[in-house]
Amino acid sequence: MPDRKIFLPEDELPKQWYNITPDLPRPLPPFIDPATKEPGVGIVPRIFPKAIIAQELSQERWIDIPEEVREVYRLWRPTPLYRAINLEKALKTPAKIYYKYEGVSPAGSHKPNTAVPQAYYNMKEGTKRLTTETGAGQWGSALSFAAAMFGLKATVYMVRASFDQKPYRKMMMKAFGAECFASPSNRTEAGRKILKEDPNNRGSLGIAISEAVEDALVNEEEANYAIGSVFNHVLMHQTVEGLEAKKQLELVDDYPDVIYGCIGGGSSYSGLIWPFYYDKVAKKAPKETKFVATEATACPKVTKGQYIYDHGDTARITPLVPMHTLGHDFIPAPIHAGGLRYHGIAPTISILTQAKQMTTEAYNQIDVFDAAKLFIQTEGIIPAPEPSHAIKGAIDEALRCKQTGEAKTILFVLCGHGHFDMAAYDEYFSGNLKPYEYPTEKVAESMEKLRKLYPWLDSVNKKFINCEPV
Ligand SMILES: *Cc1c(COP(=O)(O)O)cnc(C)c1O
Repeated sequence: MPDRKIFLPEDELPKQWYNITPDLPRPLPPFIDPATKEPGVGIVPRIFPKAIIAQELSQERWIDIPEEVREVYRLWRPTPLYRAINLEKALKTPAKIYYKYEGVSPAGSHKPNTAVPQAYYNMKEGTKRLTTETGAGQWGSALSFAAAMFGLKATVYMVRASFDQKPYRKMMMKAFGAECFASPSNRTEAGRKILKEDPNNRGSLGIAISEAVEDALVNEEEANYAIGSVFNHVLMHQTVEGLEAKKQLELVDDYPDVIYGCIGGGSSYSGLIWPFYYDKVAKKAPKETKFVATEATACPKVTKGQYIYDHGDTARITPLVPMHTLGHDFIPAPIHAGGLRYHGIAPTISILTQAKQMTTEAYNQIDVFDAAKLFIQTEGIIPAPEPSHAIKGAIDEALRCKQTGEAKTILFVLCGHGHFDMAAYDEYFSGNLKPYEYPTEKVAESMEKLRKLYPWLDSVNKKFINCEPV
């Protein structure tokens, strides 16, 4: 019987992160400042520490992980790689299914992999307090934990709807010593303005970002802002996943034919695939590995969105980011995979997609929960709704293998547990869950609005994004 869990000793924890930038099929297009229509990063330097900005723009392939960060990582890393033997048996597939389990972290997901270095670099540069937004609370709890590890304060603006309906994540943040406010709040200009117009506003991620960024800008001397996904430095911090997984697979003399993960902003998935992509470009890969991302049909940014410059936030505070987007005015349907409801995606995912280095599949939440149910009842771990999209992808692949008789090696990232998502499971088990499909016309509407707002957008796109197809 093969091992069910493949562990690495603590001293095998990676000493460097891998940065994909120098190995991309084409250079990353710059951010654009809408005020000048030229490359520019806007407010970014005022709210991030210098070390983080340097990493964001770095062309270095390998970046040292500070010893103090590795020391905190050691609280839960290296994370286990599981072989899903029971699931394989239930599917009667000749395929081998492995998953990298990031739910063992203190916050229950992959997010502390970046929260910890972000808190560390802020502490080193004299920041006293970190601000951020959170939707359902995954990122807020990860940052609260990381801040506590380095003696920083944390202020989290949590979308009002989640603040009221999902109180346990809020309590978790408090347990880590952070303060958590329902957004819109009366603590910021942005929040007060919205509350004045609509005292019962339920909030949104865009509003919460505006509040967290304003707090960091107004209190520039003591506070900085931290981000949970999309930015390049965040994805790079997540590569500890893939670097460990590669070593773990080596221990059992295996290598993936295909790798699945879910994409909200793209950080957990990039963290797993980048090191395998590196093997490919360095011509060290023993196989032609396929990279398949999964998203929600309710938020199909890669499968239905456009690759264009758009704001990263609803309030249009961020510079324009070159990415697949549904439009920054996208209003997500109330699906349970809260982490997948972001309108855009990491720019590197867009580049890899356009260069045909990876593909994306979209699933509706009923099919996703069906997959999660089979996983729970075979493997015993209750997954968060987001990585259940990756489980769905892996199961479908294993079933195709059953048809063809191929003994493929399938790897996916189980980026978080679902212990705070039981209300979602309750809705699924009681048969009240609805499949949502975001209409293509809506994307076209948003794109039209975006072009009306910035009539010069297509020329900027042409100049910076629309290089020759690779
Ligand atoms: C935040 C989150 C996501 C989505 O973010 P990515 O940057 O795409 O990884 C997915 N799953 C979980 C459990 C999350 O907490």
